Amino acid sequence: MKLQFSAGGIVFKKSGDKTEILISQHSQHHGWVFPKGLIAEKETKEQTALREVKEEAGVNGKIIRALNPVTYWYVAEGEKIRKTVYYFLMEYASGDIVKHDYEMEAVEWLPENKVEERLTYESDKIVWKEAKQFIG
Ligand code: ATP
Repeated sequence: MKLQFSAGGIVFKKSGDKTEILISQHSQHHGWVFPKGLIAEKETKEQTALREVKEEAGVNGKIIRALNPVTYWYVAEGEKIRKTVYYFLMEYASGDIVKHDYEMEAVEWLPENKVEERLTYESDKIVWKEAKQFIG
């Protein structure tokens, strides 16, 4: 059994009374997820989350608050892995989703009310429910 720790962002962008959320499709498993990645050595969770949102989705975010960690199990090369993901609620600051990298095959700004049905994994739906309360 191996433990992995990642961090990422649930990024919102408000314009007028419209709120959009950054969501992306993973190039390997094709699931619709929030951008995230492994916490590198000597990096804080916050640094990882901001870096991954920039790398994977092309966007700079501003951290608003930490959210409850997400955990799940998966198997890679015959080994069971328990992953914990620390998501942060972020407000869009700058950047453009056209600059996203190859790890994501698609990146979209999705209207807030379409996010739950688009998310692939149950654990992400739970953290999304929490994030939504703070977006207002
Ligand atoms: P990271 O982005 O943290 O570097 P990764 O891109 O290498 O990770 P994951 O996104 O963790 O890999 O995907 C590894 C496996 O876990 C895949 O089989 C994927 O389908 C599954 N998975 C991803 N997110 C979840 C989740 N929230 N709940 C359950 N299974 C998930």
